[in-house]
Amino acid sequence: MILFLKPYFELKPWAGDELNKIYECPNGTGEAWIVSGYNKKSSIITNGIYKGKSLRWLYLNHPELFGYPEEKEFPLLLKIISAGDDLSIQVHPNDDYALKTKNQLGKFECWYFLDENKATDAILGVNVKNAMELKTVLEQGTLENYLIRKPITNGDLAVINPGRVHALTKGSFILEAQESSDITYRLYDYNRLPKRELHIKDSLNVIDYDNDRKIIYPFKDKAAYKDSHFDIIKLEIGKHLTYTPDTYLICYVLDGNGILNGKYEVKKGDPFIVTKDEKATLDGNAKVIAIVPKKKGKERLKMRKVALITGVISQDGYYLSDLLLSKDYEVHGLIQTRSQMYSPIIKELEARGNFFIHCADMTDTSSLNRVFELVNPDEIYHLAKQSHVDLSFEMPEYTTEVNAIGTLRLLDAIRNSEIRTKLFNMSSPYLFSGDRYPQTDETRFEPKSPFAVAEEYAYRIVNTYRECYNIYAVNGICYNHESKYRNDTYVSQKIINAVKRVKNGEDFVLELGNLNASREWGHAKDYAKAMWLALQLKEPTDFIISTGRAYTVRDFVIKAYKKANIDLVFEGTGLNEVGLDVNTGKVLVKINKDYLRPNDAKVLVSSSTKFKDETGFEFEHDIDSLIDSMMGE
Ligand code: GDP
Repeated sequence: MILFLKPYFELKPWAGDELNKIYECPNGTGEAWIVSGYNKKSSIITNGIYKGKSLRWLYLNHPELFGYPEEKEFPLLLKIISAGDDLSIQVHPNDDYALKTKNQLGKFECWYFLDENKATDAILGVNVKNAMELKTVLEQGTLENYLIRKPITNGDLAVINPGRVHALTKGSFILEAQESSDITYRLYDYNRLPKRELHIKDSLNVIDYDNDRKIIYPFKDKAAYKDSHFDIIKLEIGKHLTYTPDTYLICYVLDGNGILNGKYEVKKGDPFIVTKDEKATLDGNAKVIAIVPKKKGKERLKMRKVALITGVISQDGYYLSDLLLSKDYEVHGLIQTRSQMYSPIIKELEARGNFFIHCADMTDTSSLNRVFELVNPDEIYHLAKQSHVDLSFEMPEYTTEVNAIGTLRLLDAIRNSEIRTKLFNMSSPYLFSGDRYPQTDETRFEPKSPFAVAEEYAYRIVNTYRECYNIYAVNGICYNHESKYRNDTYVSQKIINAVKRVKNGEDFVLELGNLNASREWGHAKDYAKAMWLALQLKEPTDFIISTGRAYTVRDFVIKAYKKANIDLVFEGTGLNEVGLDVNTGKVLVKINKDYLRPNDAKVLVSSSTKFKDETGFEFEHDIDSLIDSMMGE
């Protein structure tokens, strides 16, 4: 397939006027991004079945056209640059530095000086021996005396490795081919106003002071520069040329006219891509620059994965962050209010590095989109729910906004961004009524609270987006799970706190609601691992994640008091039921009707083994080890 592209145009204060002579673009256009897969700055396909789609979209959705590349993002960026002024002095980091500081790759680039170029030199190096010397020169304000100006003629190729100080001078008109990377450090801007940000510290850290390397190559017809990053070849068609690339090929017509594959007219200024396995036959007198992308070595692909966790301040948020950090992820967590920044959990995670927090709310689309675009996550773990079933009766509308529409907002952010982000939606066993048990993958949903109704919407919209937009989005129905990070609005922690008080000699009576509710009592740490596994499969699918064992609230109470060497016995029924210390006869537990819920589910337990079968996952904890860990033992 041949893909023709419409460039993305960027206005620049230093723009020259050459671009207006080739393209219909606004005055002041300094850069035409002729082949770009950047988010929001992608070039647009202008022919064939993908007409109107962005190159970014095509790369992410049809990897076969690009030879199933391993890079997450389109790896190269081609620009035509017209400079009406001297540009600022810049330098790019190498991979090591970029990975360490920004979790990105360094940048290699080439400049081909086009026919209409009027500049006679380019800045390519700085004549100092080391960072110390450069620092002094910068402090004295004499850098301009040390910049190395290399003479250039049109048709030259300048090769700019990471670490090379470089800048285009006034009148430059070039084709720039570079690796897609957002990191460029500005070292110097001729003290111009308005002042733009300089990155002196980073520049000093990355500059290569060895100026002996060859930089300029006279690039005659049929010349080729081969490099580990990409090859750049100049093709003069003469009359006829056939080319079958090993991988896809990125082309730009430097001059002349031609007919491509017998049907497409190409002319000066046209960018096009020959996709993998397509033969390109050119007739005519065109001159073409072709860029052949290279597969990046394994080392270069070792970028950290990026995870976004909504509802990071929670037991699941904590264990998941802990797990992902140990797997060398970069973890971003959403919090609702600034005060949450000071929570001990957040402080502990931040201290480990590679952990960042952002303020956003599931009810606020713009804040979610802002964070999404900033973070570009590989994986989203969606935990931020209004998770109190009882509260959902008091605040049904808010619960729906957060749990149902909040999930939709995330899915829409993924759909609109065209990033291959995976989503794990933590779903709830309250989708089931609890009247039929154990629940299986076939049990139908019978939500009985505003919470569960909103959760059913979230579940269904995840399915819908997966099917309609081919997004890796999955629901994990996570049965009840607890930990010492639970707060005591949940019954497990409420019981544990009571036991601790009694153990410490306090005269304390625990007041509870429905003791007959039968629930699973998994450990949140196990669930964190399960959530991660659910996003590592080849194909997205929904799961029930459950221990398969249920105990009543009453059982949990008995087991917890037993840990404090207190044997409890329950007597009476309904609101009059009490839990007595067998030895002393003292009432330690009684019923308070305020804690009873309308429609409380009877038994939530599942016998589904699909998750275990497909991932090999095993629970490490049971109810006893959970209670031990919550008691601090
Ligand atoms: P949930 O299942 O996610 O709502 O987790 P909870 O820990 O809040 O509730 C678990 C079960 O314990 C539910 O069936 C509650 O009705 C029951 N329960 C009994 N007494 C209490 C209580 O005092 N507080 C809470 N939160 N739940 C209670």
